[in-house]
Amino acid sequence: MLLLTFKGKIGKILNGVDKMIQKPKGTYDILGDSSDNILYLKKIIEALMDKYNYKYFKTPMFEASELFHRGVGETTDIVNKETYDFKDRGGRDMTLRPEGTAGIVRSFIENKLYVSSMPVKAWYFGSMFRYERPQAGRYREFMQFGVEAFGADDPIMDAEVISIMVNFFKILGLKGIKVNINSLGDKESRENYRKALLDYFKPYVKDLCEDCRNRYEKNPLRILDCKVDSNKDIMKNAPKLTDYLNENSKNHLEKVKTYLDSMNIDYIVNPSIVRGLDYYTHTVFEVEADIKGFGSQNVLGAGGRYDHLVENVGGPSVPGVGFAIGIERLMLALQAENIKLGEEKNIDLYAFGYNLNDKSYLMNIVNLLRMNGFNVEMDYLNRNIKNNFKKADKLKAKFIMIVGEEEMEKNIVTIKNNKTEEEFKMNKENIVEFLDSKLGGLDES
Ligand code: ATP
Ligand code: MG
Repeated sequence: MLLLTFKGKIGKILNGVDKMIQKPKGTYDILGDSSDNILYLKKIIEALMDKYNYKYFKTPMFEASELFHRGVGETTDIVNKETYDFKDRGGRDMTLRPEGTAGIVRSFIENKLYVSSMPVKAWYFGSMFRYERPQAGRYREFMQFGVEAFGADDPIMDAEVISIMVNFFKILGLKGIKVNINSLGDKESRENYRKALLDYFKPYVKDLCEDCRNRYEKNPLRILDCKVDSNKDIMKNAPKLTDYLNENSKNHLEKVKTYLDSMNIDYIVNPSIVRGLDYYTHTVFEVEADIKGFGSQNVLGAGGRYDHLVENVGGPSVPGVGFAIGIERLMLALQAENIKLGEEKNIDLYAFGYNLNDKSYLMNIVNLLRMNGFNVEMDYLNRNIKNNFKKADKLKAKFIMIVGEEEMEKNIVTIKNNKTEEEFKMNKENIVEFLDSKLGGLDES
């Protein structure tokens, strides 16, 4: 009987282990070195955004499904196949955001930012969700840093947005940064081109893939972005958008080029860039870097101008331009290029008690030091002295603080410089000043 019970218990435990819960497919955990890297990257982004006077926006990670499915355009890959759609408990149709622009546009309209003085310049950083086939550098939850600038139709805004992305990559130390730009033209140019494409593809519709047959009906421009049919002659001989740009569109592109030249930013005009999202007008761009072994995934970020999106989502007619950068791909690029982010974070002081029943005095000082800007770690496991010193070494603590009965009674502390092994005894009141003088102020930590 006893044995049976015993067996039963073991069985239960093993069962639990068998069913160990794992992260969902296409997701990953951030911890260890990569958590330091991501926080550091975010700091660089914050500092960069201050330089350009862009303001941080945080919008919800889920929005009403119609924001993505209607407002933004129904013919994109993202919106057709890749969204995480669900009903909430109130029966509302919700979608985990697959990209950042739609949410910012919704927020811009809902908060009536269009009545404020233009331009409104926003940036965001956060998770996006797409139901894609997971592979290296491609996840179902991934992060993007992006900017959106509303209210200026001047090509100088396009150039500023492109320059932010280029300068960001330069600051990080990436090499071989290449900007590909193209123009999708204004409404009139697009409409003329659309007609030309419909005429051109009409006899070939039956030869196209299923997706493209669909695109023929809804958005023929996207046929040119097809990965299945891309090598067919009918694709290569298709009319070129550049031949359908009107004067206004040509001028816009020329100005963007002039402004990029003024900042010494290298670019090529690449007519094959049409972008996956179909709300763009005028400028579209992709920025790639030279990264060992990256192949087709060397596009680190992309963006464009969207002069009718605000209107499509239900706002007034306000132009906009923005970009998004994939953070994971960027991190992999930095890794492949052996670029280290940030400096190592060091512990200023490691504190432990010696033979203490009550650690209030120790806790009081540790709290005081942390509130005065020092990075302090302490012993929570009642280690013996030897192991505490080992732990301090492992943490590379610059100082070690020991508190025993004697220290408590005399209201003092013993502090040891972990490098020189010098020992100091001082009144509790003097410890902040002492560490300040030794560590060179609060900034160096
Ligand atoms: P791709 O052609 O590689 O699928 P995309 O056109 O779908 O890219 P965008 O919507 O323009 O990508 O997003 C901008 C950036 O976000 C990409 O350049 C890439 O770095 C990143 N990105 C897009 N999808 C993913 C994903 N599933 N996992 C990780 N990063 C992604
Ligand atoms: Mg994609």
